[in-house]
Amino acid sequence: MYKIAHDQEEILIRFEKDLVDSGILSKFLSHINLQSMLKKSGKGDAGTRLREQNRLAALPSGIDLLRDPNLNKGSAFTLQERETLGLTGLLPPRVHSLDEQVQRILENLRKQSTDIERYVYLIALQDRNKTLFYRVLLDNIEELMPIVYTPTVGQACLEFGHIFRRPRGVYITARDKGRVAELLGNWPFRDVRVIVVTDGERILGLGDLGADGMGIPVGKLSLYSVCAGIHPSQSLPITLDLGTDNASLLNDPLYIGLQQPRIRGELYDELVEEFILAVQQVFPGCMIQFEDFANRNAFRLLQQYRDQICCFNDDIQGTAAVTVAGILSALRCTGGELKDQRFLFLGAGEAGLGTGGLLVQALVEQGLSEEEARRCCWYVDSKGLIVKSRTDLSEHKQQFAHDHPEIADFKEAVETLRPNAIIGVSGQPKRFTPEILEFMAQINERPIIFSLSNPTSKSECTAEEAYTWTEGRAIFASGSPFPPVRMNGRNLYPAQGNNVYIFPGVGMGVVASGASRVTDEMFLVAAQTVAQEVSETDLSYGRVYPPLPRIREVSLAVAIAVAEVAYKDGLAVTPRPADLKEYIQGLMFEPEYSSYI
Ligand code: NAD
Repeated sequence: MYKIAHDQEEILIRFEKDLVDSGILSKFLSHINLQSMLKKSGKGDAGTRLREQNRLAALPSGIDLLRDPNLNKGSAFTLQERETLGLTGLLPPRVHSLDEQVQRILENLRKQSTDIERYVYLIALQDRNKTLFYRVLLDNIEELMPIVYTPTVGQACLEFGHIFRRPRGVYITARDKGRVAELLGNWPFRDVRVIVVTDGERILGLGDLGADGMGIPVGKLSLYSVCAGIHPSQSLPITLDLGTDNASLLNDPLYIGLQQPRIRGELYDELVEEFILAVQQVFPGCMIQFEDFANRNAFRLLQQYRDQICCFNDDIQGTAAVTVAGILSALRCTGGELKDQRFLFLGAGEAGLGTGGLLVQALVEQGLSEEEARRCCWYVDSKGLIVKSRTDLSEHKQQFAHDHPEIADFKEAVETLRPNAIIGVSGQPKRFTPEILEFMAQINERPIIFSLSNPTSKSECTAEEAYTWTEGRAIFASGSPFPPVRMNGRNLYPAQGNNVYIFPGVGMGVVASGASRVTDEMFLVAAQTVAQEVSETDLSYGRVYPPLPRIREVSLAVAIAVAEVAYKDGLAVTPRPADLKEYIQGLMFEPEYSSYI
C-alpha cells in the first residue's frame, strides 16, 4: 500500500487530482506528508506539468488566497505569482523574502508591552500566515516558547473569552451527544494524525477554566509542528465542553463556553466514549493526547483507553518522561546511580505518580524488583506522607505507600527520609522553603531540586532561591522558565523540565511508524534519548536538558527511538524503512514557502 517509491509520480498525480476534485486529502495516502512528497518528486517532466496544472486549479485566487492562512505568503508572493493568481494590485509592490518578513514580525512583536499582547499578536499571525508563524517560532524558539506555552499560555487561558478573536479547533459539548462524528466531519482537513483534547478541568496549575482551556491544545499542537515537524494540517485541537464549576466564569458575560455546571458520571463517560469512537471513524489511526483533565478522570480514562486505541496522557506520561530525563542527566553530575537514589515528591497527582511509575520501570529495567524500585519513591500529598496506615489513599497512591509512621509536614519528611532529590508537583507555591533547601545542601553534595509546578507563580521555589540556599550546588529544574542566576562569579542556567522535549518527538515517532498504541516503553526510551542529548557543556552550566534551539534534532532523535519500539513490538502498520532517520526527516514539515507556479 505504501510502496510509493515505485509509482510515486502516478500516485502523486492522482493524489493531487483527488485534492482538486474533492477538496480533501486522499485517505489512501493519509500517512504521507504532502509537502515532503512534493519536495521529493522529480522536476521538468510531463508529471510535473500535470501536477502544476492540478495545483493551480486547486488554489483559490485573489483576495481569497490572501485570506487563506494555509496558503498566504503576504508580501512574499513573487511578481509572477501575483500576475497568475490575480493578486496584482492587492499587495504593496515590493516583494519581501521570508527572512525579511520574520524581521518585521519580530520588530513588531518586541514593541508589544506585555506578554499577553505578544501572545495575541502571534495568534493573529497564525490566523494570517501559518508558514510565517511557524518560521518565526522555529527560529526564535527560546524567546517565544514562554509566550506560546507556559507561563503566558496560562494567562491567555485565564483571559481567553476576553482576548478571543477567531475560533480554532473543534468544540464538542454535552448538547452534541449523538452527533460527535458529524462535528468532527466539519473539520476541513481529513488527514488528521494527532488530536490534543482537553475538558478544561485542570489547566496547568490553574484549575477549572472550562472551554477557555482551549488555549492549551492549540498551543501544544503548534509545538508539535515547530518541534517535531508534524504538518499543521495533520493536527486538531479539541475541547470537550461539559460545563464548568468555576463560578467567576459562569458569571462572566464574555465566557465562551456552556453556562452550566460540569456534567459528571455516566453522561460524562458516554460523551467521552462517543468522542473516542467518532475519532476512530472519522480519523482512523489518529493519536489522541489527553491534556489537562482533572486527576479524577485523567488516570481512569488513560487506563480505560490505553490498550484500546492510540492515546496517551501528557500530564502523566509526558511529564514522567521529561522528569526522568532530567533525573538521568542530573545523575551524570552527581555520579550517583538511579537505584541508590531516594526521591521525595511534594504532590501525588498526575505528574508525581506518573513520574514514579516511569522511574519504577527504569529501575526494573536495571534489574530491581518492582517492590525494590518503589522503595526509591516517596510522596507527600495534601494530607502528609503517603504510608500504609493511611485509609484515604486512591489505588494509584497505594502503590507507593510504605511501611512508615505518618508524617504530616513536608519539612519533617525531608529531615526524616533524607532524600537525594525533592520534586515539587503540588501546584503549591513556595513550599521549598530556605530551611528545606539548606538541609538538602547539608546532606547532599549536589542536591536535586525540581520545582515543576506551573505557571511561575505556583513554583515550589524560584531558581534564585534554589541556588542561594544551596550555595549554588543545586541541580535545579522548573516547570516554567526562570532567567539565569549569577552566583560566585558565574552564571547558572536553570533548566526547564518542559514536556516539549518529549511529546512532539513521541508523536512524530508514532505518526511515522503508524503505531497503533503508545506504550510506557516509548516514554522510557524518549526520556533516555533526551538525557543522552544533553552535552557535558550543558551540564557544566547546570542545564539538565538540551538547549531549546536544538529541539528539532532532539525531537528527531526521540521520534526515531519511539518508532524503533513500535517496529520491535509489532505495533507499526508500515515495514521499517531501511534508513529510518532519513524517512522521518522527510516527513518533517519545514516552514518554507513553496512556489505556486
Ligand atoms: P494534580 O492535581 O493531579 O496533583 C496535585 C497533587 O498535589 C495532589 O496529589 C495533591 O494532593 C497535592 N497537593 C495539593 N496541595 C498540597 C499541599 N498543600 N501539600 C502537598 N501536596 C499537595 O496535578 P498534576 O497534574 O500532578 O500537576 C501538579 C503541578 O505540576 C501543576 O502545577 C502542574 O502545572 C505541574 N506540572 C508540571 C509539568 C512540567 O513541569 N513539565 C508537567 C505537568 C504538570
